[in-house]
Amino acid sequence: MCPRCGGVGWLRRDVPIGHAEFGQPVLCPCKATELKQQRLDRLFAISRLGDHLRDMTFDSFLSRDIPYDAGAVGADWDREETFRSLKRAVSTARHYAADPQGWLVFLGDFGCGKTHLAVAIANERIGRAEPALFQVVPDLLDHLRATFAPNSPVTYDELFEEVRSAPLLVLDDLGAQGSSPWADEKLFQIINHRYNHRLPTVITTNLPLDRHQPRLASRMTDMGPLVFIKAPDFRGGLAPNRALSGKMPPSLRGRMAGR
Ligand SMILES: [Zn+2]
Repeated sequence: MCPRCGGVGWLRRDVPIGHAEFGQPVLCPCKATELKQQRLDRLFAISRLGDHLRDMTFDSFLSRDIPYDAGAVGADWDREETFRSLKRAVSTARHYAADPQGWLVFLGDFGCGKTHLAVAIANERIGRAEPALFQVVPDLLDHLRATFAPNSPVTYDELFEEVRSAPLLVLDDLGAQGSSPWADEKLFQIINHRYNHRLPTVITTNLPLDRHQPRLASRMTDMGPLVFIKAPDFRGGLAPNRALSGKMPPSLRGRMAGR
């Protein structure tokens, strides 16, 4: 029970009779905190992030181990190049999350961390009580198709408009969708609308630009920045090596602090 308001949530201003604010209720700090949490919960619910993505923050990105150990992973990955690439990507993502303007496109192989950074941007915005919408592209197209079912809880137009006009949209895994004239057109309509209206949009993709529809690739190039992440698979590629070497690889945070 709140000692200030006794659980009512409102306080009365201690002002003399005749004062303009006499008798007017004021929000108790306990209620203000509760309302803020409700707003964050609501923003989170409409973001479609899902509980499993809630922990993908910049902090959790920085505490991950860098998945290489000198000489153990193979000659394909250069330590310094990987580090520089990740550092640049984190810094760009953080800057964007503070004030999303234009687009941010992450390109890189499976497991390089681009989805984590894109989700971290969405989580950061929600933490600042700003809306963000997360959509995995193949799932989005499935959902749009599913709205044509007679029992769909949402109409095609409602879903399409929600995605097309979201204040901040994260499109994860662009290029992983099956190609069909219908899917290509719907995706183009969404992306082109956001392009024409300069709406903040974060895109991740495994595909190089020249493997996308040319009209999408040209818009991504136009609205960039394009952030190429060059890093090995974070999702377990090093486990055997770690066991072998018996020591933990450094975290990105540790590496950043060391410079
Ligand atoms: Zn109170």
